[in-house]
Amino acid sequence: MAHDTDVVIVGAGPCGLFQIFELGLLGLKAHIVDALPKPGGQCTELYPDKPIYDIPALPICGAQELIDRLMQQIEPFGAEFHLDQQVTEVQRQEDGRFTVRTSAGVEILTKAVVVAGGVGSFQPMPLRVDGVDPFVDRQVFYRVKDPSQHHGKDLVVLGGGDSALDWVLALADEARSITLIHRSDKFRAAPASVAKMEALVASGRMKFMVGNVVGMDTTDGAIKSIHVRDPKEQVEKLPLDHLLVFFGLSPKLGPIAEWGLGLDKNPIVTATEKFESNVPGVYAVGDIATYPGKKKLILSGFHEAALAAFAIKARIEPDKKVHLQYTTTSPIMHQRLGVKETPAAG
Ligand SMILES: Cc1cc2nc3c(=O)[nH]c(=O)nc-3n(C[C@H](O)[C@H](O)[C@H](O)COP(=O)(O)OP(=O)(O)OC[C@H]3O[C@@H](n4cnc5c(N)ncnc54)[C@H](O)[C@@H]3O)c2cc1C
Repeated sequence: MAHDTDVVIVGAGPCGLFQIFELGLLGLKAHIVDALPKPGGQCTELYPDKPIYDIPALPICGAQELIDRLMQQIEPFGAEFHLDQQVTEVQRQEDGRFTVRTSAGVEILTKAVVVAGGVGSFQPMPLRVDGVDPFVDRQVFYRVKDPSQHHGKDLVVLGGGDSALDWVLALADEARSITLIHRSDKFRAAPASVAKMEALVASGRMKFMVGNVVGMDTTDGAIKSIHVRDPKEQVEKLPLDHLLVFFGLSPKLGPIAEWGLGLDKNPIVTATEKFESNVPGVYAVGDIATYPGKKKLILSGFHEAALAAFAIKARIEPDKKVHLQYTTTSPIMHQRLGVKETPAAG
């Protein structure tokens, strides 16, 4: 059965999350969808441990901390999250509403759509070996969804970042055998994880190889072994059951490009009064929105989310005037925020 809501937000980066807050203050319900398994967009995916210095009134705030704080701030509004799935389709209905469909088969009927898709969905960088695609999610995995699927198997893990090292360490005791392959002996992962991996290699519990995968052997519709070329151009065949590939993520605009929105290269052209696109009822905020003078900063996205929320409220309830109210003093906003008593001003 399709969900029914006021607004669907495409993208759960900082600006999509703050959009929930601004809509919630005005009494509007939201569903939010992200291709990633957790909220946070670029902050969580690209620089979680780095400090941000230009969030108003927070002189220093870790990127993941910012997302944690936003999640706390939006909690009263009970937005529904649909993670680990891409919005594939936004279809306008005759009554002016939209049907939003996701790659996981979720269908949401909504009165408005806010695209907060940043630089696009983060997709895993693929292994470029001829003939590998039909084996994805059977023997070749870009994400570990169910770790037990890999227990008791001969595993090969590719990559040198945190994901590769974290999964090697998590699966070392459970796999029949495990080999980590990276193009060099320099890692981008946390030094403590690298040290643990090296200790496992020293104790003979796993193997590490420097090299690149350049080919594979298949028999009876299954990969039997991969060909690994080392820095001396020697190629070794390595038998395996499962290959886990962690080459990092790269953003792709993906299906957003097919929704008929006016695009300027990648970003969506918006008018700065409402942050509406060329399709009435579809709005854009954050990095994906463009207009003269646009700066791709989180604080710009927060401002855009506030104005988009007012515009959406006016669109959904055209007969009512949308009054500006302060969170400090508005009883209706206190009720929506779940504030029990108005705290005394300090
Ligand atoms: C290293 C680094 C440091 C930075 N430092 C600062 C700083 O100090 N101050 C500052 O203001 N900014 C900084 N930025 C920029 C800031 O991170 C971005 O402006 C901000 O993340 C934009 O937020 P967003 O919500 O618009 O998009 P994003 O954070 O890009 O999130 C967009 C989300 O949309 C999802 N998505 C896209 N398409 C779909 C789809 N079809 N279906 C489902 N999901 C989809 C993506 O998976 C993603 O999670 C920095 C950026 C980087 C890379």
